[in-house]
Amino acid sequence: MKKIVVFLGAPGAGKGTAAAAVASSTGARHVSTGAMLRDAVSRGTPAGLEAKSYMEAGGLVPDEVLYKMVGELLADAPDGTILFFDGFPRNVAQAEALSGLAASGGAEVAGAVCLDVSKDALLARLGGRRVCPTCGAGYHVATLPPKKEGVCDKCGAALVVRADDQPATIAHRLEVYEKATAPVIGFYETSGALRRIDASGPAADVAALVENAVKALV
Ligand SMILES: [Zn+2]
Repeated sequence: MKKIVVFLGAPGAGKGTAAAAVASSTGARHVSTGAMLRDAVSRGTPAGLEAKSYMEAGGLVPDEVLYKMVGELLADAPDGTILFFDGFPRNVAQAEALSGLAASGGAEVAGAVCLDVSKDALLARLGGRRVCPTCGAGYHVATLPPKKEGVCDKCGAALVVRADDQPATIAHRLEVYEKATAPVIGFYETSGALRRIDASGPAADVAALVENAVKALV
């Protein structure tokens, strides 16, 4: 049996970081939606080719294509694989679809891990991000400051705030999350397989809590 653990949490909660860290310490496979898309496109799978045509037309990849891609991924995974889904499902309809895809792909959704961080902490985390427009290096005013304020350590360029991290955009991203993704927490809570993690501490502490939660699920 292949097992799926769904990672949930607001933008800035650190689920991608935690999923990657715990995947490498437990031998699980970290599947972020973006990486899954890029991989299917570059390998030219049937779903990847469909996705490519939508992306080239500048559109979003529809759910049906995403579902096909998840189906391909599950079919390809060897028996016994543990998969961490990060970025999918994003809403209750996708969560329901995932249960069906798992059943037909020889897998089961073992449960979900939700990373909880207060809204104030999320705003501080997201709002403090800075990036170098020249070399792509990432910084954070509180947790990973450059040596000289506003200047890239690596190449000396002036750091900027990404469009995604502007205050109005952050508020919008959190709103979208509350509306669409927060109900997914309820979906897994109802099935009794939800583990909530206090994700307000340092990344290493969060990874340790997540690892325990994952081990209890799979
Ligand atoms: Zn730079």
